[in-house]
Amino acid sequence: MISVNEALEHIRSSVKPLQQEIVNLPDLVGRALTTPITADVDSPPHDKSMMDGFAVRVSDVDSNRSFEVIETIFAGEVPSQAIGPMQASRIMTGAPLPAGSDAVVMIELADFDQSASAVRFKIDSLRPEHHILRAGANFSNGQLLFPAGHRVRPSDVGLLAEVGVSEATVCKNPTVAVLPTGDELVDCKNQPGPGQIRNSNGPMLLAMLQSLGVTAVDLGIGRDSESDLQAKMQSGLENDILILSGGVSAGQKDLVPGILKSLGVEEVFHKVKVKPGKPIWFGVCQNGENQTLVFGLPGNPVSSLVGFQLFVRAALRLLAGGRIENDEMETTTLATDHQTRGDRPTYWPGQRVKSSSPTRSVLPLKWNGSSDLLALGKADGLIFFPAENHDHAAGNEVQFFPF
Ligand code: AMP
Ligand code: MG
Repeated sequence: MISVNEALEHIRSSVKPLQQEIVNLPDLVGRALTTPITADVDSPPHDKSMMDGFAVRVSDVDSNRSFEVIETIFAGEVPSQAIGPMQASRIMTGAPLPAGSDAVVMIELADFDQSASAVRFKIDSLRPEHHILRAGANFSNGQLLFPAGHRVRPSDVGLLAEVGVSEATVCKNPTVAVLPTGDELVDCKNQPGPGQIRNSNGPMLLAMLQSLGVTAVDLGIGRDSESDLQAKMQSGLENDILILSGGVSAGQKDLVPGILKSLGVEEVFHKVKVKPGKPIWFGVCQNGENQTLVFGLPGNPVSSLVGFQLFVRAALRLLAGGRIENDEMETTTLATDHQTRGDRPTYWPGQRVKSSSPTRSVLPLKWNGSSDLLALGKADGLIFFPAENHDHAAGNEVQFFPF
């Protein structure tokens, strides 16, 4: 059986980024940039005042002396005169600083009459550079702001606008279909009959995709029969990704891998050393230039979730032209002792412990394994425990994968 990293390596070598398209600025949120973004201006573009006040020379500041006010500079204007000895220019926030000045006195510290032709200050000294931001202090023209692969967040949009990025190139959004399978499943709107359970995975996978900005097609519930699965998979294969759940283990009605193969989907791996989630199946269907990535996630919901988090998200990143990264893992500490057993690394539901310390520890929750969604509902994420038998002590460092 292959390891998680080997499985990721297989996914990396199978997935080709989707075609590129140009997207306008506000709609870039959630999309991964295919080219780096560099600044086309200095920020700020000029030395500027950060206050409404008076631009002066700090060496002149003295509460006993009066300054001649030589002009008023508004934001959007350019100063016409340099500041000489005992001179000041009235200046507004954001306006360019006049030559000769090396600080701004805020208006609250100034005494001046209606005509504002002269001003006195209520201070005897001033730190050079006070209330001034020099040109290029934030960033300079040509500086790299976002690397290729960066996923644009709402908080990035202001900066993109500042450097004139009104549109950018991203990979096309993937089309994704979700197909939970199982004769025992009923829609969550219905009351399960004897032997039946509600379909948890379908809505869960659609929601996980939605949280990543992907609107997926819901193919309904596939029944454990050749004809039903074949028809539904065939329509699913018209997408960039088909995500199935159930039917990939060793049961007599676990038909998924066989039918996928008969539809021309080539198996890349089946079973990964991970707990929960071992029976996961991954394959690729090549139709000329296009490919459909097929994930057969195990039926138990927590297994499905782990498979999605580890592998489907990695594939989505690769399709968007990005890389597989572990950037969401946090290093934290265990709140209680915890034992793990078995030869597979385990992702265990964990809850952040309320505390005032900056690194909050995580508590492994009582959990009955891959079907237990209650623990997941209480969890803030998954705690990673390496394979083999370990007695982990409270306070030990662990990796945490927050939701
Ligand atoms: P399977 O891999 O099809 O053998 O399913 C493994 C376990 O997961 C069984 O107990 C199934 O009833 C359960 N299961 C399969 N699909 C779902 C689903 N969509 N929602 C909740 N449980 C499921
Ligand atoms: Mg099944």
